[in-house]
Amino acid sequence: MAPVLRPLSATTWAWVQDSTDWGFSNAGVIASRGVSLLFDTQFTLDATRAMLREIAAATSDSAIETLVISHQNGDHTWGNQLVPGAEIITSAASAEHLCHEISPEQLTHLSRTQGTDSTSRYAAEHFGRFDFSGITVTEPTRTFTGRLKLTVGDVTVEAIDLGPGHSAGDVALWVPEDGIVFAGDVLFDGGHMIVWSGSLTACVESVDTLLATGVETFVPGHGALMERADVLAFRTYLTEVRTAATAYAKDGIPLADAAARVHAEFAGNRAHPERLFTATAGAYADAGFAEPLPTLDLVKGMADLAEQPS
Ligand SMILES: [Zn+2]
Repeated sequence: MAPVLRPLSATTWAWVQDSTDWGFSNAGVIASRGVSLLFDTQFTLDATRAMLREIAAATSDSAIETLVISHQNGDHTWGNQLVPGAEIITSAASAEHLCHEISPEQLTHLSRTQGTDSTSRYAAEHFGRFDFSGITVTEPTRTFTGRLKLTVGDVTVEAIDLGPGHSAGDVALWVPEDGIVFAGDVLFDGGHMIVWSGSLTACVESVDTLLATGVETFVPGHGALMERADVLAFRTYLTEVRTAATAYAKDGIPLADAAARVHAEFAGNRAHPERLFTATAGAYADAGFAEPLPTLDLVKGMADLAEQPS
């Protein structure tokens, strides 16, 4: 489905991919009085260029002075270089983690080597379609902790440092006057949660922080727009997975076996049920039964789970 720039108010737009596939992320724009703020870029330069063209047309070529980054995953940041001159803002925790992220070159290599292991097959299936050439990973120019109010023309928004959850450092953007929160990958619509941070509890806490804003409309990092009831249902799903996984940890079930059981119970209709490996691993780490796993181990866990007959 082609992405659309959806107006949410006279000054706020959401770039909605409405896709549950890996790499097709949503973004946001606030524009007022000839200036604008962009929340996240896209996975590839072409995808970012397409988005920027639509934004320029909708906002009468307002100058993007500020780019707020939800977290350092490439599908939200690898177009940063196409917004030259913008101040690039993210949380200190998010910025710190940049050096641990997989690079465009590594992901290209992983998805094109046609390796015989499960990780290579998984990467080829889900990332082989993207062209990461020309990307220069572009770092934030300003970091913050806690809350940061930003002014865009006549509009005031608030960047919220959520700490770890989906990633090692997540940031949401709250637009109080429109009652909208851009959630980044703290929320997935139609897809399973990915827990890179090693803490499923932190993911639930981040959802609670977003709910505490009191808004009715949430723009998730992936999928369609969510209403408050959808976010409450997502929170319930996270806590039910946590309860089940924690019980398996206490029973001494090995992580891979527990993930398979959680998969059987909770796969449901959401896309990418293999991501339940990362949620299970997060619950195991939260309960003190395992160390948080590094990114490539999490990918291998997902790849193995995806290949298991269910
Ligand atoms: Zn994402």
